[in-house]
Amino acid sequence: MSNLYKLALIIKKNSSSSSSSSKEDEQFLLIKQTRPPKFNDEEYDSFVDSDLYDLPCVQLNPLETDTNSDILIQGADVCQNNLDLTKFDVNSALNQVLSQVGCFQDGEWEFWKYVEEPEFGPRSFVHTVFITGKKLKLQFHDSLQDVYKWMSIKSCLDLLLEVKPSSDRVGPLMAVGIVNDSVQTGWCKVPSTLRCQEYPPGVKLVPMGSRTGKPFTTTNLVIVAPDTPDRVLDGYGDKDFAAYGDALIIDPGCLSQFHEELAEIVTALPRKLVVFVTHHHYDHVDGLSVVQKCNPDAILLAHENTMKRIGKDTPTRPHPKVRVSRFSPSDQALEKSWKIAILMKDFSDNWSRVYTTISGAEEICIAGQQLKFVFAPGHTDGHMAILHASSHSLIVGDHCVGNRRNRESSILKAIESGATTLFDIVAKTYSDVDRSVWIHASSNVRLHVDYLAQQHKLPKGFSLENFNRSCAEFVDKMGSVQSQMRAS
Ligand SMILES: [Zn+2]
Repeated sequence: MSNLYKLALIIKKNSSSSSSSSKEDEQFLLIKQTRPPKFNDEEYDSFVDSDLYDLPCVQLNPLETDTNSDILIQGADVCQNNLDLTKFDVNSALNQVLSQVGCFQDGEWEFWKYVEEPEFGPRSFVHTVFITGKKLKLQFHDSLQDVYKWMSIKSCLDLLLEVKPSSDRVGPLMAVGIVNDSVQTGWCKVPSTLRCQEYPPGVKLVPMGSRTGKPFTTTNLVIVAPDTPDRVLDGYGDKDFAAYGDALIIDPGCLSQFHEELAEIVTALPRKLVVFVTHHHYDHVDGLSVVQKCNPDAILLAHENTMKRIGKDTPTRPHPKVRVSRFSPSDQALEKSWKIAILMKDFSDNWSRVYTTISGAEEICIAGQQLKFVFAPGHTDGHMAILHASSHSLIVGDHCVGNRRNRESSILKAIESGATTLFDIVAKTYSDVDRSVWIHASSNVRLHVDYLAQQHKLPKGFSLENFNRSCAEFVDKMGSVQSQMRAS
């Protein structure tokens, strides 16, 4: 994974004046962020988005060899073990970022913070250096007035915690760089060996090493643990919540080498704990037994179709994902992988105690905060998302609407160009993807075809009966393809 460096600026209003105003009154410069591009989907593009403001930030590029940056960043040596700022072109980064609002004439810069973003994705690992200006002389262009805003920590916190349709939103750099430091972190202790991101405050994302699909290596564990538990349920009336708790964890799926850290997190959380899994895939449920062991009183919530597949008894057949990663046409190897699957299942995703099935639209109450389930089938038939009501944060698990729409249209294209069997559709739709993921992809294709049939979107000549029959032959066909590949 490659490293990407960024420089973020913390510029306080009146930084040139020597009289230090109180912390609450301090205002910071935030820049309006570029909106995401249109999706070319009428319904999707019709949704109105509010403006997102965040700290000014640009990419920081390394200098040519044997040159050193001539800009002095006071105190930067404290992060030298992680990153040597003198080896980076801070000058052009500064000019570039300040040209977004005006220009910078004079002043000093001081090191504020160095943050390594948790390992969310396979592409690049983002390192951000936050620096703050002192005695700055800044000139703002009048024409760019609607591009920036001065905001206090208090107003940012309000916008982060209580999102309203018409109000501005505050980005993650402001939260990670400044706002989170002013919020007391009580309940949720994440071991220092793990990196996490808290955005919005009270919702922590911890990517944990998991048995996920390539090229990813981690699955996000989400912890909702409000720091100031507000147990007064005013405003919720007589609402019938599906569950109550003081904290919530979502998708505790991780490899066994992270079970100790998971146990540490769960033990530090309040006893009244609610656990929710978005779907049954191993990378989301591995570790459920660890949660249960640390807190036998925890309540598990999942869709019925997910619950059916989580190990309550010894499984009679392995999870498809295990077969994907260890697939081999040889019976002996397959047998072995089945045994491993059963073994893993015994200690990883077993849940023997209280659970509640949910089907969507139910609400739960976590330390006075309201969260709502959203049924989102597609990735699996029992997939659920959950909405954190006050911050308008939707935790989507593996269900991403944009991906789903793209995939749906490419599946339909494959069918329209003559593919009739599950194997043919998978081969056409996933031709650019490693064959080791085809078995897993095939269950996705089946769900899409079912959905397309329900929507009457399949072409007239397409026989659903033939297609369903072809599903049984899929694994054999994969096996023969793999042995042909091995022989050639
Ligand atoms: Zn999944």
